[in-house]
Amino acid sequence: MDTLELRPSDKPRAIDPEEWKVRVDLAACYRLIAHFGWDDLILTHNSARVPGTTDQILINPMGLMFNEITASNLLKVDLGGNLVEPSEYEPIYAGIVIHGAIYLGRPDVQCVIHTHTEADIAVGALEEGLLPLSQWAMRFYNRLGYHDYEGVSLDLDERERLRQSIGSHPVLVLRNHGLLATGRNVAEAFSLAYHFERSAEAQLKIMAAVAAGAKMVVPSPETCERQAALFAGNEPRLQGQREWPALLRLADKLDPSYRT
Ligand SMILES: [Zn+2]
Repeated sequence: MDTLELRPSDKPRAIDPEEWKVRVDLAACYRLIAHFGWDDLILTHNSARVPGTTDQILINPMGLMFNEITASNLLKVDLGGNLVEPSEYEPIYAGIVIHGAIYLGRPDVQCVIHTHTEADIAVGALEEGLLPLSQWAMRFYNRLGYHDYEGVSLDLDERERLRQSIGSHPVLVLRNHGLLATGRNVAEAFSLAYHFERSAEAQLKIMAAVAAGAKMVVPSPETCERQAALFAGNEPRLQGQREWPALLRLADKLDPSYRT
């Protein structure tokens, strides 16, 4: 009987259980972003810090659609973009610049989600940015950074400016480009990306209605601040934890291969 010889890349790797859990969550995050339509062909990138390290992250291989991402094909790279483990793929360099800026400056951040959606880009292109026009938007009231567009992020010099732009905020609007949502785990970053997306979509509909002659009502600054503080006051419980198991069930129904 013939036997199949495993190629080196096919051999199962011994992966630390904590790292494997993060890989599964991050792979699910890619599939869910594709499911909700926030992906952009093979572009954009989402990452997670490798547990127990300060300078290693997991990130997508360049060239794969988000629905092809699995726990095991995520690349492990250092913050200079060098592969820590061999792979036939390379990371997207702009992703290394952007994500590395956040991980270097924010030890609290364990996951970074980066989207290019029409709603994110449209709201980021407005001088006033995101307005507190919906309950979704309240969590970002006075808790949002903005970063002016400098072209595709290929210059490591931009990292310091990105760090200054996000400050201690959980989310950074990349004007004319997209969004960065951070989290202390994958679920929290996903939750923030979700709420920002819905906020931006609602704002654009409201602004279109206003442009057509409708009158807009805006909650008072006191109400917005109180609600934003209430959302933030849920700490130390992280945002997004209650819905994440349900989102994983959704990812399983869509295609459980992300777990491989
Ligand atoms: Zn981008």
